[in-house]
Order: sequence, then structure tokens, then C-alpha cells
Amino acid sequence: MNGYPPRSIFRRFRWTLAILAFLSGVSYAQFAVGAVFKGSYPIKVGTTVGMVADIVKEVAGSMAVVTNIIGAGVDPHVYNPTRGDVAVLMKSDIIFYSGLLLEGQMTEILAKVGAKKPVHAVTELLQKEYLIHDDTTNHDDPHVWMDVKGWSKAVEVVAKALADFDPPNAAYYGKNAESYLVRLKELDEYSRTAIASIPENRRVLVTAHDAFNYLSRAYGIEVLGIQGISTESEAGLKDINRIVEILVTRIVPAVFVETSVSDKNVKALIEGAAARSHRVTIGGELFSDAMGNPGTYEGTYIGMIDHNVTTISRALGGNAPAGGMSGKLSPKH
Ligand SMILES: [Zn+2]
Repeated sequence: MNGYPPRSIFRRFRWTLAILAFLSGVSYAQFAVGAVFKGSYPIKVGTTVGMVADIVKEVAGSMAVVTNIIGAGVDPHVYNPTRGDVAVLMKSDIIFYSGLLLEGQMTEILAKVGAKKPVHAVTELLQKEYLIHDDTTNHDDPHVWMDVKGWSKAVEVVAKALADFDPPNAAYYGKNAESYLVRLKELDEYSRTAIASIPENRRVLVTAHDAFNYLSRAYGIEVLGIQGISTESEAGLKDINRIVEILVTRIVPAVFVETSVSDKNVKALIEGAAARSHRVTIGGELFSDAMGNPGTYEGTYIGMIDHNVTTISRALGGNAPAGGMSGKLSPKH
């Protein structure tokens, strides 16, 4: 005997072994998600976009250091992680990303890292009925942060994930999340009031890409993106002409550029409208898929949304205050 069990045992249990092998593959990922923090504080959290990083900073407070890999002004739809980014993800204790294919080029690396440590999509609690489906791409629209209520669900995901990962501080995370949600509720109410102050016929938001569908539904403004929900698609002359027609017939005074998307198509709209004797201005720069610079008010999620709704409202004839919800916006508004 060589010490190995006789062949027949393998044969007899081959289905059990197959099922166990399958289950271990499945539970491998689940095991990582259920992992508990055993290192020394602060917890190292890796995130993709700034909006996600901001939630984690609010909820984790002094218990974590957060590194986000997709910075201000960078387009997440087409972002390819660098070797340095992969290193950040590998060194992190827990990872949060936005999900719904926003970080489309990172799917593979996130799945790979997810086998070793907890990786959470902050949009994972959103129900099918909530999500806006895009028929062109047959994907759900990932730009959920544009509806403050929808994004509040992401705060719940982060709070629960951190509590599960670090049970001794669960109450601390819960308290932080609760007070952050109160501020988000104020932001939600401000956004609704600001958008509603725009005269009804001008309540049309024209932007470079289709990032504002959730804002549209939540706050009652029609939105038209020249490009589709991902910046990967190309805008055609047909799309430009269709939107010029709307600008001219509804006398829309302004269109908007985005910090993370080229303004080439928006300029084509302005020229198209001018050729038909309708003057359209650039109403401002909106933060669609990336926040403002780190360290500024606009570099936080609340500042980003405050900037957007205040800029949109003022440019389209509404009466939001120049300083925004709490007077913190930079003076150029
Ligand atoms: Zn986008």
C-alpha cells in the first residue's frame, strides 16, 4: 500500500467530491466576503471612484484609510487599471466599487481580488424595479449617485459591510452612517426644490453623455445626453441634429459640459443652434462620473451634487442661491 485510499473510494464518492469541489469554488468568494478584519488599525480600504471613497470616509471615520484609484476628472467607463492600481487593490483589506458595469474595464481584476478579500459593489442593494434599464446597451444605467435617495442605499451597503468586517466597531459605523444619511436627506430636498424652481418649459438638461437619468426621474427634469450611458459609444450627426431641434423649439438657453468627458459634441450643439439663429451658452461644467478636486467642497459627494443642481438651476432660469445648499460652493456660480 502506498498510503493513498483505494481507487474505489474515489469512485464511490466521486459525486460528493464533485459537489464539494463546486461548493468550495462558490463559497471561496463568499468566504472572502464574510471575512473578518484581523489586522491593525486603520483598515486599508480600496475604492474605485471618488463618490464611493467619499461614502467610506464618512462611514469608516477614523477607523480606515481610503485610497481611490480613479481620480478627479477621470472617466471610469473606459478606465483601465494600472499596475499601481492593482497593487493598491491587493494591499487593501476590503474593497468597494460602484458596480452596474460603471468600471467596465475592471470587472476581471475585481473578481480576481474578490476571491481573496471582501469586495462589495455599493449598488448591490438596489432592486431591479429601481434601476433604469438602457435598451440600447441592454444594461442597467450605472449613474445611481445622481439620485441622492438611490445613493443613500449605497451608504447602507458600506455601513453593513464594514460592520460585518469589523464587528467591534459596528455601532460606530452605524452612528456615522445615520448622521451622514441625515445630511443626504437635506441634499435630496435641496435638489428637488432647486430643480423645481426652473421654469417648466426650460426644464431640459442637455449634457455630453447620458449620466443624468436618475437625476431626471428623482427631481423632475428631462435629460438628453448626446452620447449614450457609456462614453464608449460615438455620437452621430443624427443625435446632434435631434438635440439642436429641441434646443431651438423649446428655446433652451444653456447646455452643459462634463468634467470627465470631452466637450467636442457639446460645442457642435451650440454651433448647430447658432446656425438656426438660437443662442445657446454653456451653462457650466457638471460633475457626472467624477467629483471635483480632493480637498475642495466639490470634491465631496454632497458638494458634487450641490454644484450640479445649483449650476443647472441657475443656468436654466431657476433661483437657487449662488453658494448652493449651504453657501459652500466656490464663488464662480
Ligand atoms: Zn457615465
